[in-house]
Order: sequence, then C-alpha cells, then structure tokens
Amino acid sequence: MDKMSCYPLRMRGFFTPFARALAVLSVIVALPATAQEDQAGWSIAIHGGAGTIAREDMTEEQDAAYRAALQNALDAGAKVLREGGSAMDAIQAAIEPMEDDPLFNAGRGAVLTWDGEIELDASIMDGRTRDAGAVAGVTGIRHPIALARKVMSDSPHVMLSGKGAEAFATEHDAELMPPEWFETERRRESLERMKAEQLSAIDVDVKFGTVGAVALDSQGNLAAGTSTGGMTGKRWGRIGDAPIIGAGTYADNRSCAVSATGWGEYFIRVGVAKTICERLLVARSFETANNGMPATGSGFAQILSDSVMEDVRVLGGDGGVILVTPSGEALYSFNTSGMYRGRATSQGVNEVAIYSDE
Ligand code: ASP
Repeated sequence: MDKMSCYPLRMRGFFTPFARALAVLSVIVALPATAQEDQAGWSIAIHGGAGTIAREDMTEEQDAAYRAALQNALDAGAKVLREGGSAMDAIQAAIEPMEDDPLFNAGRGAVLTWDGEIELDASIMDGRTRDAGAVAGVTGIRHPIALARKVMSDSPHVMLSGKGAEAFATEHDAELMPPEWFETERRRESLERMKAEQLSAIDVDVKFGTVGAVALDSQGNLAAGTSTGGMTGKRWGRIGDAPIIGAGTYADNRSCAVSATGWGEYFIRVGVAKTICERLLVARSFETANNGMPATGSGFAQILSDSVMEDVRVLGGDGGVILVTPSGEALYSFNTSGMYRGRATSQGVNEVAIYSDE
C-alpha cells in the first residue's frame, strides 16, 4: 500500500495540487483572528540580546547581574499575565525595566552612534488585531516601547522616525530624559575603541543586547515587542530590524508572536519575524483543512524557527528569536553562542538562561 492510500478518498482528493491550494487559501482566509483551539493559559518569553557570550568571559558578578535583570523583567511580565492582564501590557511591563537597565542595549545604556549620540528604535504588535506601532532613530525617549505603542493607539500610522517621532512624543506626554541619563561609560569606550582600532560594529558589539518580549494572555491574545539602540557606530540614519514590523517584531493570534535580536540587516532581508509566523500559519491551515492530519504538533514551531534562523546564518548573519504560540509554547532559537533570555508559563515554567548549552 503506498503512503497516500491509507487516507480516505475524500482526503486523497485534497492532495491534488489545485484542490489543496484552494483549501489552504480558504482556510487561511477563514481562520478567525482569535482562533484558539488549544488555548492553554498564559506564557511569556523575553530576550536581552544574542551574540558571542561565553561563560569564560563573564565574571560571576556579571553572570548574576544579567540573570537578576532578566528575572526581574520576566517577573514583571508574568505578573500582568497571572493577574489576567493583556499580552500587550505584559510585554510592555517586561521591556520597560530592561530599557531602564544599562546592562542592555535599549533605552538607558544603549550603544552610541558614530557621532556619539543615542538613537533608539522600537516596535510593538498586537496579535489580536494586527495593529502595530514603531519608532525609529529617536533620542531622549525613556521608554521607546511605550512610544511605539502610542503610535499604534494614538496615530493613524505604523512607524514614525526622528524629529517627527520626537514631536509626537512631546504632544503625547511620553517620558523624556536628558542625553546624559542614557549614556554609559562602557558604550562610550566601545565607540572610541571602534574608531581607534578601525573595528566593525560586530567586533565591538560581540553581544548585541537588544531587548524584546512576546506573550500569550489568558484571553488567547498574542503580542510582541522589541526595543534597541541598534549597533555601535551606526551612521547615516541607519535603522535595523527592531522597529520593522515583519523583521524584528511580529504577532498574529493565528500563528505566533516573535521578537528578534541580532545583525539587523540580515533579519530585514529574511523578514524573520513574519516568515516564522507565516510558515506556522500555512502549516496550521493544512492541519485544519486536513481535518486532523498533524502538521504542527509539539516541536514543530521549534523546527520551523530554527530553519528560519538557519537561513539568516547561511546569508552570513547571526542572532536569535523568541516566540510564543497560541497553544502556549514559549521558545528560543538562536545561532550564536549565547542569548540572554527567559520564559515563564502558567504551567509552571520559570527560567532564565544565558549560554547556548543551558
Ligand atoms: N537587531 C538590532 C539591530 O540590528 C541589534 C540587536 O539586536 O542588538 O539594530
């Protein structure tokens, strides 16, 4: 018996290419934005950047400081979800303490541009409605993730940049801080070393340090957000993947929520966040159209994310993603030696990790 003949005739018809395409298309269109067949409580994953992070290069104190900062952010997000709050509120609650923490390359402690300034990028997406907001190249904004959310809720646009975004921030009472609040000695030294030794951003910025969070709330809604200072020594108004919906951030209740970190140019070219969600959506559509023939069981989202990260690696890029699915899986995928990360779920998972072997 060949493989196909074990399926009923009706099912075999599904496999003719035309019928299959039609069925998949109709299911994609028909899947409601809130479809949650296998809703399982809440879950959240966070990251604080990926890169060359080796145990032997970290002191015990540094290791402990990163773990404490990650746990603090994770706890803030998990608390919102545990109390029945929304995925959007949870990711903002997780990201803001990391924006304030000079350990990470976002908000306070972000990397410096070639001209010695700090230009911040952030984006946020609501998987329930696929509304999104983003800011790029902004200065003086304490919480760029909050501003991105305001762009989403209080403007007809998705992305604002530079001076215009700052004017919008002032009009909408975003919290502002003076330049010296953001700048740290460590980032100043990185820029000076980069210039003196003619190093690339990757040589100086061996750990990227962008922050992000993704969450599923107990109403079955997904959300994703990412915030960064970009890459050391960036110039000419360079913008990375973090504020680009579909590259650094994406959320769709029908498939997943993703936040990325790494060498932004590659993440933009691959369209990492949207590619992962889109492939999951198509796979789920096959499953639904196929009336139970499993396509997206446990482990599938991991394989799929790994394959997209492999695509980034093949092009020459590195970094990682965090992901949550509508069924509550919270996953990481990265092709670097470490990623500052954490995850918590209503099923009792609660962990932070740094190196690839843990
Ligand atoms: N992806 C960010 C960028 O390219 C950098 C990072 O993740 O740290 O701007």
